[in-house]
Amino acid sequence: MRMTLLGAPGAGKGTQASFITQTFGIPQISTGEMLRAAVKAGTPLGLKAKAIMDAGQLVSDDLMIELVAKRIAEPDCAKGFLLDGFPRTEVQAQALITHGIQLDCVIEINVPDDDIVERMSGRLWHPSSGRVYHRTFNPPKQAGLDDITGEPLVQRADDNEVTVRERLKVYHQQTKPLAAFYQAMAEQPGHPIAFYTIDGTADIDHIRQQILALLQKEA
Ligand code: ADP
Ligand code: ADP
Repeated sequence: MRMTLLGAPGAGKGTQASFITQTFGIPQISTGEMLRAAVKAGTPLGLKAKAIMDAGQLVSDDLMIELVAKRIAEPDCAKGFLLDGFPRTEVQAQALITHGIQLDCVIEINVPDDDIVERMSGRLWHPSSGRVYHRTFNPPKQAGLDDITGEPLVQRADDNEVTVRERLKVYHQQTKPLAAFYQAMAEQPGHPIAFYTIDGTADIDHIRQQILALLQKEA
């Protein structure tokens, strides 16, 4: 299973990705997490990415394509992988094709902008694992602490309302058109890719069931 989740920032991609990867035993490739790790480690990529991420803009296609192509070439991706946050532009989607990386399934999680702003203001993040929670919709067992390690949860620097609105603007301009791109591809006779759009406003468990039902059909 080689797949990607599309959706606005905060649509629930990371939350659902962790269920899918556990169920199918495939690695989750979250480009946002990879970039945040690079920022924390102070690598050349991290130094280039930090200001761009803080401004709610996209890191350059060239850097992202190199990062993802290298990751997918690692042995643990041989049986499949789940991309979370990639592709985000048509150039990135085309690059998967030119690198010979064929996706089997694309699922778009749809959430209106106003819900996104509310979700982001309550998102809590565990920096060393990337696990996400929500103060109201998916609270940790103990307030402010990661369920597994007990370490403190934080709010991401880019999860403030001004940056979230900027990220939504970028999403509508550059990423949303990928839904039509993959839908058109899936409609080509004989093309192996499947494309689905689901309503991301339902509760987390309901969406998980829906995604698992779609993927069981594909597997
Ligand atoms: P969210 O989960 O809110 O959608 P991510 O964690 O996926 O955010 O990404 C955080 C930031 O990292 C983005 O706002 C962007 O600056 C950068 N980023 C992540 N993935 C990509 C990508 N595929 N192309 C360009 N920039 C990216
Ligand atoms: P993305 O990876 O698309 O940026 P996340 O998975 O990090 O999104 O989810 C964004 C925030 O919304 C998190 O705080 C998460 O707990 C919460 N969330 C995810 N799915 C739902 C849902 N279906 N209903 C309400 N809140 C959700």
